[in-house]
Amino acid sequence: MGKQAIHLPKKKQTQFQFQKLKICKKCQRYSVIKEENCPECGAVYVGAQALAKAIFKNHLFSETLWILMFVCIGVIFAPTVEARYYSLIVGVSFALGYVILTIPFIKSEYFYQLKQLFFTELLKIKAGIQYDSNRAREDIKEGNVMEAYDKLQEIRDFIDNDQMKIRTVRALNKIALRKDMLLELELLLPSSYDKDFVKYALEVVKINRQLVRKSCISYFIKYQMEIIRDFGMDNLLFVAGSALRMKLYIQEFSEFIQEFVDYFPKERILRLCRIIYSNPEENWGGLAEKIKRLVAVKYSYDPDFKPYVQEKSQTMIKRTVYQK
Ligand SMILES: [Zn+2]
Repeated sequence: MGKQAIHLPKKKQTQFQFQKLKICKKCQRYSVIKEENCPECGAVYVGAQALAKAIFKNHLFSETLWILMFVCIGVIFAPTVEARYYSLIVGVSFALGYVILTIPFIKSEYFYQLKQLFFTELLKIKAGIQYDSNRAREDIKEGNVMEAYDKLQEIRDFIDNDQMKIRTVRALNKIALRKDMLLELELLLPSSYDKDFVKYALEVVKINRQLVRKSCISYFIKYQMEIIRDFGMDNLLFVAGSALRMKLYIQEFSEFIQEFVDYFPKERILRLCRIIYSNPEENWGGLAEKIKRLVAVKYSYDPDFKPYVQEKSQTMIKRTVYQK
């Protein structure tokens, strides 16, 4: 099946992540995806925030009711009419005072109720998110990749494990990626080698090399053997070639670059020369020597390398040696 040309849906923005949590009161099932209605019974979801507010209101209402009930008992059993009046005035004042004094603590009381709700409902919340995740997996199977990606984006705010990352990557692998899309790479890095992730990363590198950062390069280097086995040497060099993007990365991954420098295409070597020779004060270690030898053997007659084959290279190498 070919790749789908779609627009990636945007993630729902909320001040706090818990604001995405909602419950179907009929099925007693939690969900974090954007839908307004429960897919099982069609009932409208109630936000966890609204639920905590309702619990708080009920709590306040029932406590006030208890106070008023005691007041009524006091009024009924008062021995004189005067005592009844006093009981009524004192009781109602106490109930009003209780409500008024609670007002400044509404916010903290609300957050306390919310915390209690998450604590007592934790297993149900987890089961609800798992249900959402299973629906995303079904969407991928049925080819509804946009719906799957939309769900997974929201789910990953709560559960960001390898399973969710790989499901997201599998959905993305079925979409025709474009430069104008808000793509992510670093956040999808799994903790072990995954073929689907590397396939996705290869696509992303072609579209936007800026997304390849230190942790991604480390991943490509760590699993270089697996990448060569599944995607070939050219693709490894292509993704790991991102290490040449910045001076800092070249220094960080100089051992890997040295190991594979013979396989890099001409423009990458040229870029390496440009960075190394324009920063002679940096300690490039064995990489500078390796580049010098490579240029002398392979590119000594190439006019593009003219500035790097003559005395300039000698100066640079000398400086590197002195710094050791
Ligand atoms: Zn329902």
